[in-house]
Amino acid sequence: MAISVKAPHRDDTLEQQLDQLHAELEEASGRFLGYPCNLAFDYEPLYRFLRFCLNNIGDPLGGSNFQVNTRAIERKVLQFFAELLHLPWPQAWGYVTSGGTEGNTYGLFLARELHPNGILYFSQDSHYSILKTAKLLNLRNIMIRSLPNGEIDYQDLEASISVKREHPVILCANIGTTMKGAIDDLGRIQQTFERLAIHDFYIHCDAALSGMILPFVDNPPLFDFGAPINSIAISGHKMIGAPLPCGVVLARRALVKQIERSIEYVGIMDTTLSGSRSGFTPLVLWYAIRTHGRQGWRRSIQKVLQTTEAVLARLQEIGWPAWRNPHSNTIVIRRPSDELVRRWQLAVKGDIAHLIVMPHTPMERVEQFLEELRREAQTL
Ligand SMILES: *Cc1c(COP(=O)(O)O)cnc(C)c1O
Repeated sequence: MAISVKAPHRDDTLEQQLDQLHAELEEASGRFLGYPCNLAFDYEPLYRFLRFCLNNIGDPLGGSNFQVNTRAIERKVLQFFAELLHLPWPQAWGYVTSGGTEGNTYGLFLARELHPNGILYFSQDSHYSILKTAKLLNLRNIMIRSLPNGEIDYQDLEASISVKREHPVILCANIGTTMKGAIDDLGRIQQTFERLAIHDFYIHCDAALSGMILPFVDNPPLFDFGAPINSIAISGHKMIGAPLPCGVVLARRALVKQIERSIEYVGIMDTTLSGSRSGFTPLVLWYAIRTHGRQGWRRSIQKVLQTTEAVLARLQEIGWPAWRNPHSNTIVIRRPSDELVRRWQLAVKGDIAHLIVMPHTPMERVEQFLEELRREAQTL
């Protein structure tokens, strides 16, 4: 019997539902000031690639039997980031992930495989994905206090490590915390290791947002492979901007070699956490890199930081408590009313909230928000 292939059934209600969803998303997209997703993108030239079932399964540096992929493009993306983060390409390994969380999970997985007896240290201000990953990997872990600006408390770190000196140290450094944009000082952390004569250590950097900011500022703090770090994760849908969540993880190739294994079924090295992986998101990242160029990114980031400074000055003018960390586009403010939090989609934690300035942030919207905040300040 012949099988008839019919077009999927479409009716008015389906069309209406899609139209309504689209309108709602249009509206909501114009009003978020609290989440760091760059919306200044246009990937229309890539839409035709959505007709393929692009799958970059396996190690992007190895071979594969599955040929509908963008692995060559993925390697170019990785090469761009390796260079940006001072890791010579022959010593680099990585892949395009589903986001910052997968990149962090990969980094800590690699650390655990290399140091099964290690203890993970991370701060109170670390992203929630770190504790989740520690549980997932059954990794012994110690949460360290944070300083008021969001950096890890170096004294607490030293005291905690010093009583467990027989264990290798797995440190997750925050390169831009989620709430306050704080950067853990790798120089001070290294000095701590030296003072305690810790030679067995692994440093993973969670640079979800700031990993795409710091390479483009003048005199950035130490945060990349120029320091003795082992891996780093950056989100693709944050500062770069992508219609689909994605990210990049990079690690030192020699370490990954120690734990890789091959899978005959698809003819790949099974080095990645996920099996099937998007072949579309590497294309998106590559397109973003190619269309901006390094100079374009520098201009864009510098402008974001200037705007951040201007918005901070306006907040001070209207008398609303606000501050930021160096090199950060995150402005920490006193938590406003729930109504403002909801309307402007601000991220909140306890008595603080934050605004994040991104390349697309519409200044007239910010002015509108500031006006509402000014009115609220008067009623305090
Ligand atoms: C957003 C963020 C993450 C998680 O990234 P996803 O891409 O949402 O998985 C991890 N760490 C920090 C510091 C973040 O800000």
